[in-house]
Amino acid sequence: MFQRVLIANRGEIALRIMRACKELNIETVCVYSTADKDAPYLKHADETICIGPGPSKDSYLNISRIISAAELADVDAIHPGYGFLSERADFSEICRECKIEFIGPSPEAMGKLGDKVEAKRYARAAKVPVFPGSEGAIEEVEEAVEVAAEIGYPVIIKAAAGGGGRGMRICRNEATLRTNISKAQQEAQAAFGNGAVFIEKFLEHARHVEVQCIGDKHGNAIHLWERDCSMQRRHQKVIEEAPGPLIERKKIEKVCEAAAKLIKSADYAGAATVEFLMDADQNFYMLEVNTRVQVEHPITEMITGVDIVKASIQVAAGEKLPYKQKDIQVNGHAIECRINAEDHTKNFMPSAGLIETYEAPGGLGVRMDTHVCAGYRVPPNYDSMIGKLIVHAETREAAITRALRALNEFEVGPIKTTIPLHTELMQNSDFKKGGVDIHYLERLLKD
Ligand code: ADP
Repeated sequence: MFQRVLIANRGEIALRIMRACKELNIETVCVYSTADKDAPYLKHADETICIGPGPSKDSYLNISRIISAAELADVDAIHPGYGFLSERADFSEICRECKIEFIGPSPEAMGKLGDKVEAKRYARAAKVPVFPGSEGAIEEVEEAVEVAAEIGYPVIIKAAAGGGGRGMRICRNEATLRTNISKAQQEAQAAFGNGAVFIEKFLEHARHVEVQCIGDKHGNAIHLWERDCSMQRRHQKVIEEAPGPLIERKKIEKVCEAAAKLIKSADYAGAATVEFLMDADQNFYMLEVNTRVQVEHPITEMITGVDIVKASIQVAAGEKLPYKQKDIQVNGHAIECRINAEDHTKNFMPSAGLIETYEAPGGLGVRMDTHVCAGYRVPPNYDSMIGKLIVHAETREAAITRALRALNEFEVGPIKTTIPLHTELMQNSDFKKGGVDIHYLERLLKD
């Protein structure tokens, strides 16, 4: 097992990783930017190293500074968390060259599953259901027109290297498709340094259902069942739950098994999420594979009892997966509310600044993953998420009741947070029924 791990991230996920390391008797070295220098979570690290000023490009995204810190602190491994450098195959490669273990997939496995065109190829082979569309990257406009005629409009143009909801164009007819292909290629080249684009069928009404998987370096891979993350705004998840409500178990079981097979076929070690859209008839179509731990991993931990962060450190250190597929049972229902420092009544305007009042909810089945407390100043430089409220109960209904109870106990001020929005949503009759689609929240906010 590793002796010292460097955490190349900040906020709640940095703290989450420190906690897992502590339970594995691993020392932690946490890097930070000057914008985070007074953050209380840093006191839980055995060592901290300042890697630069607030802007991410000069600190959390700066590979040479992070590698220098790792060499200075003499760590055996780096955990990238999510966001920042977590999905950069070049970073995983540099870690390898420096003989520092990257806690996540090898650059090869990331190359296979992190690229959307490649991932689709592997998915087809593993019998993971994918969207009808082009087999690989589109070279010529005529090729796109041909494929679109075959699968029918609307279609969506996507960048092979796309991410964060960027680089996508919906085309409802041939004329738009013709004008958009070369534009999309140029945009993708400028934004991602890779101009490859592909097209697939565009699904109007869908739910977002994803499968948590984990693999080791000995050729084992399992799935930890699904999460429904359909409650979204601008492609950002707002509420996640596990298991997915109203999904036929026979269908999802097959999808989950195929997802684990896909991870295995790419010789993938670490945590991965295979994301799908599900249509009204409960047909699944793979969107992409996220080659890292996800924000919403705790709900899966609550229903399966698996510590995903710990398990991914263990597999990175070369241990065999501590679980077999048959050990993974679903127990009850879990819901996560992402608490953002934003004013949802003012178009989700960010609300950075000093937290004077902070009263966290507690009690049976309530988990708070956060790095904030009273006296913490939310810096304006980063993502506005300040914590995650996770609840677990025997049934979905009981979990919703518990979430509402916890939200009512929760007090943060004077900065604005999305707690009032979550309080509303936990009482929303459509959410309570289950099965809202990915555009539901935006429709609701418009009214
Ligand atoms: P990114 O990596 O940029 O997040 P994804 O492929 O995960 O891109 O897609 C992001 C979002 O775009 C999805 O959650 C969904 O809302 C929408 N989307 C992507 N592909 C399709 C599609 N074929 N049909 C309908 N919506 C889609």
